[in-house]
Amino acid sequence: MAAIVLILALAGLVGYQVAERFGMRVLRAEAQHRLDLLASAIDADVTRVTHIPGVLSLNADILDLLRLPNGESGEHGKRSEQRRVVNRYLERLSAQHVDSLAVFVMDVTGRVVASSDWILSDNLLDADLSRRPYFREAINGAPFRQYAVDGVRDEPGYFFAQPIRDEKQDWRIVGVAVLKASIRGVERGWLANDAPAMIVDGNGVVLLSAPPEWRYATLQPLPGEQVAELIKAQFDGRQLGILSLGIDIGKTPAGEVMEFSGRAAEPASLAARGKRFLVMSRNLPGTAWHLLVLSSVRPVRSQAIAYAALAVAVSASLILWALYLRQRRRVLQARLGAQVLLEAANRELEDKVAMRTADMTRTVQTLEAEVGERLRAEKTLRAAQEELIQAGKLAVLGQLATGITHELNQPLGAVRTLTGNAIEFMRRGETETAEKNLRIVCDLADQMGGIITPLKSFARKSPAVPSRVDVAHAVGSALFLLDQSLRRSGVRVDNRCVAGERYSWCDQNRLQQVLINLIGNAADAMTACPERVLEIAAEARSDGSVCLAVSDTGCGLPEDVLNRLFEPFFTTKGAGEGLGLGLAISRDIVRDFGGDLLAENRVGGGARFIIVLPGENARESAESVSP
Ligand code: ADP
Repeated sequence: MAAIVLILALAGLVGYQVAERFGMRVLRAEAQHRLDLLASAIDADVTRVTHIPGVLSLNADILDLLRLPNGESGEHGKRSEQRRVVNRYLERLSAQHVDSLAVFVMDVTGRVVASSDWILSDNLLDADLSRRPYFREAINGAPFRQYAVDGVRDEPGYFFAQPIRDEKQDWRIVGVAVLKASIRGVERGWLANDAPAMIVDGNGVVLLSAPPEWRYATLQPLPGEQVAELIKAQFDGRQLGILSLGIDIGKTPAGEVMEFSGRAAEPASLAARGKRFLVMSRNLPGTAWHLLVLSSVRPVRSQAIAYAALAVAVSASLILWALYLRQRRRVLQARLGAQVLLEAANRELEDKVAMRTADMTRTVQTLEAEVGERLRAEKTLRAAQEELIQAGKLAVLGQLATGITHELNQPLGAVRTLTGNAIEFMRRGETETAEKNLRIVCDLADQMGGIITPLKSFARKSPAVPSRVDVAHAVGSALFLLDQSLRRSGVRVDNRCVAGERYSWCDQNRLQQVLINLIGNAADAMTACPERVLEIAAEARSDGSVCLAVSDTGCGLPEDVLNRLFEPFFTTKGAGEGLGLGLAISRDIVRDFGGDLLAENRVGGGARFIIVLPGENARESAESVSP
């Protein structure tokens, strides 16, 4: 920030100085041009009349007048006549040159002998101007020019004096011809031009000035005696040198910047133009006079300030542009860096991902292998379980076989007797009776089919297919198959299940297998007991499942038996009576449904086995899980 401020300040300074230098050069050139113009205007004004005194010095009438002796004698009449002639001539001459205030001729004593203003009452005639420098110089033989205020008319003017020599008197100086030209016109022109300018004489006295307040001021303070002398010789009592402008004329030809502000010398018209002015001067050719022009520096300064502001603005724009470019480069670099970093991070990430993917692929492969292994193991296990269940079923069938054969024996014997009788009746020709017998045989065959069919369907090796099972129906089927055996064992059956009351979502065949197992075990446990009651009841639980309880009045379950009840091959029965697999298989079957098999002792003695079965609503949840 400091550097930027410094650069801007420098730019402003340099801009200001360059513009000011250039402006000053232009101002100087303009001032110089103005000086040249004014000088040539003055020169034209003056040179227009310079020749007139020369012309006068050659005029025969004037010479004649000057030749006439200056006395009050007899020739006085002739002299006044000649004087009149010359006066008229001078009047005509003056009238032709508007600016010339007066043209007059002096004799060697410095007295005016003829004058163009002879007609006016305050004419110069007979005035003694012998003390005037122009007279004194001219009478000594040198043409002279001088600015002066003449005492008679109290009017400033430019005096050109020319000695008049008489050819007939051996070129002796016989008088002086003088032309007094007004230069006020020049001054008026300057005022109209409204630009400060002045003419100073060789002594540094301001003769003409716009502003007019500076007239008769001096450039530098003059010594008192010199002032007094000048007043006497040239300015006819005018106040002179009251004001000193403090201008060193030696410096002004090249142009000098000065300040008039706050000084007594400052006229009001100047104050409006600013404080500082460029003062330039040049010598008027053929004179000791100098022409001075003043040019206000204010426009140059305001222009320089404008250029300085422009330089600051341009520099500021350039700096801003440079800053913008730098910032942009930085942003691009940062973006590039970020991109490189991002790419590196990307590569690293990709490598890691590839590594992880490889790891995961390996893990997945391992897992797949394991899952495959598990699936195979599960399949094997399931197959084994199925086999086991089937084996259990066959074992149950084996137990049932005795009862069934007994059941079938009776109708079979009847069939044999009836068919034998039918043959005999047919031989006798009693076909009607034979037909009756055969009908009974038919019914018996149906009855035997009724015994065998459920057995067949029970023995069938089928995978568990869950369906809505009426619990009472399954209980009924199991009891039907064990009917003979229970009856033989003297067991009273108290079946409290009501058909169509409780339903479960399970496989009927398997449930039947479990029930046959439990009922068989109960019958076995009650063999030695006097009271043999088998109670089967089903009740619904609050969660929708169904509890099917098989209770007996048997020996109950001692602690050690209760603990190991469901262990495979645990049995308390003798060899050939039990394998110890019944309860283990039964629990597997029930758990396969999503239920459980529990055992407990009854309060009054005996054991109770509870089959917890999923309710019929289990179907929806099972379907919603695996539609
Ligand atoms: P098994 O009947 O072949 O012995 P189980 O697994 O069916 O095999 O039964 C295991 C054992 O549980 C039986 O040996 C028996 O001691 C006991 N048990 C089963 N049911 C009852 C019951 N209702 N009352 C008393 N003990 C029982």
